Amino acid sequence: MTAHPDDVDFGSAGTIAAFTAAGVEVTYCIVTNGDAGGSDRSMSRADMAVLRQEEQLAAAAVVGVSDVRFLGHPDGMVQATPELRRDISRVIRQLRPERVLTQSPDRNWDFIFASHPDHLAAGEAAVCAVYPDARNPFAHPELLEDEGLEPWSVPELWIMAPGDQDAGIAVDTTATVERKVAALMCHKSQIGDPDGVAQRVLSMARAQGELAGLSAGSSAELFRVTRIP
Ligand SMILES: [Zn+2]
Repeated sequence: MTAHPDDVDFGSAGTIAAFTAAGVEVTYCIVTNGDAGGSDRSMSRADMAVLRQEEQLAAAAVVGVSDVRFLGHPDGMVQATPELRRDISRVIRQLRPERVLTQSPDRNWDFIFASHPDHLAAGEAAVCAVYPDARNPFAHPELLEDEGLEPWSVPELWIMAPGDQDAGIAVDTTATVERKVAALMCHKSQIGDPDGVAQRVLSMARAQGELAGLSAGSSAELFRVTRIP
């Protein structure tokens, strides 16, 4: 559950590829269509939204994900409103996931690009949807009364934590990091220097592998994991 097309790929596509390779079913839920992204001023924002949805679908396919849902909230203006919490709770109740993976609602002062305001707000809304909204029958009562969506308690919450030394777990992505790069390259409208981005992603993955104490040359993605009884 992330704010923009490409967020899940930068933060966790190596992990997602490992999940799907192990037979785990994964759904992406993207809060915006990314219509405020890119630098091409000649392209209408409506066209950009369509393009970015197509790019995200292609990137998802690279790591074995075919179910991608866009919530259509305005890019650049995401807030953790009751409406967004309801929209995410709806998807949680529909899918009944064992694990929700999302962005950190906490600002990273060491790497501010990770903390786009949309990321903070989408992460906050997702955390609120996991606990308490999706599990509480009296939260967003229209979900139960009008749509018949029973409450669902998500047992595990994973927060993407790139570079965070306090992160709870590291997923070894040595076998999947190349697919992560391939997924990222699908976001052509966002990537002006593909070779440079690929090199940065690979070196970041190795730095996280080192931080996690994996063997030399290994890659990793780091997460904070909260188990919710
Ligand atoms: Zn983003």
